Amino acid sequence: MMQTTTTREEQIKAYAKELGFDLVGIAEAIPSIFQQQYRDWLEKGYAGQMEYLARNLERRLNPQELLPNARSLIVVAMNYYADTEEGPGTPPVRPNHAIFARYARGDDYHDVITKRLYQLLEYIKKRIDPNAAGRVYVDAGPLLEREVAQRAGLGWFGKNTMLINSRRGSYFFLGALVTDLDLEPDRPAQGHCGRCKRCIEACPTGALIAPYQLDARRCISYLTIELKEAIPVELRPALSANGNRIFGCDICQEVCPFNQKFSVPTTEPAFQPREITRNSRLVNLLQLSEPEFREKFRKSPVKRAKRRGLLRNVATALAYSDDPEAEAALQNAAEHDPDPLVREHAAWALDTLRKRKTTSSSP
Ligand code: SF4
Ligand code: SF4
Repeated sequence: MMQTTTTREEQIKAYAKELGFDLVGIAEAIPSIFQQQYRDWLEKGYAGQMEYLARNLERRLNPQELLPNARSLIVVAMNYYADTEEGPGTPPVRPNHAIFARYARGDDYHDVITKRLYQLLEYIKKRIDPNAAGRVYVDAGPLLEREVAQRAGLGWFGKNTMLINSRRGSYFFLGALVTDLDLEPDRPAQGHCGRCKRCIEACPTGALIAPYQLDARRCISYLTIELKEAIPVELRPALSANGNRIFGCDICQEVCPFNQKFSVPTTEPAFQPREITRNSRLVNLLQLSEPEFREKFRKSPVKRAKRRGLLRNVATALAYSDDPEAEAALQNAAEHDPDPLVREHAAWALDTLRKRKTTSSSP
């Protein structure tokens, strides 16, 4: 009778799937091969105010810095695609309502993925090698995770800078367990966009300055989440260019044919959309108090923008709203919001809204 043996790699991958990871692969724990490109990108200022991306650069770009004797990276991906009222690839067409990026509609992925990667490490210690050591990488930097995921066979780089899996699309969270176990690496993923450039053409701010190159300072995701100050006036209209993108932006993923064809809704309970991220009128969001914000966005990625960032974005989007209550809501925020950043954006939006009304009503 033929004997089948399960390799350590197969055992690890099977358990990772049991933990709810959709994709899993293995890469060698070598320093990033894109170090120079990453440094150039930072030097050109494309990271904007995201100074944290330049901190601990060695650690970000070399797994050995995180774990001495690191040998392998177990790289995982978790689908976060949430199909609400919209179909795959299409944004919700709900005038005067907010659109939150899909990744932010449920619970914070850092907590979910980190916890499960440590569970995977526990499993490895129990079943494979009691002396195995490991450290978890979640959000080590935009490049590193995508690079190791590509080397581990999970997907390839699209022109929108996202990691694309040819049969699953790009709506994935990525994470990695760095370990000192010597594991057989997978083959790097192969694939390409061909002549497609839909993402570049669809980006409302021109943030994709060339294939595979993002100037984060123009990206709505950066402007609505990472930027802590005023949104540059010339970029404010873009938040409403395709729905009201008040926290992140999925446009360059929505238009991607790989997502339109292959995205399937996640079954992970933690990533199911909350009522507030799925169904909120802008005028109601503009009235959120600090305690309400904390309660509604507990354990949510939206906390990152804080109340002042979120309401700044909401006020900005209301400049282009035709909600009959927009003007009153903006006036109230411009006069009474406790935060000066929100007041300034509300005043600008009120002014813009009134000018639009005057123009459209003039003969
Ligand atoms: S997330 Fe939006 S703004 Fe940023 S590059 Fe993609 S389409 Fe452009
Ligand atoms: S939209 Fe087209 S060019 Fe952009 S990432 Fe997808 S396949 Fe590539």
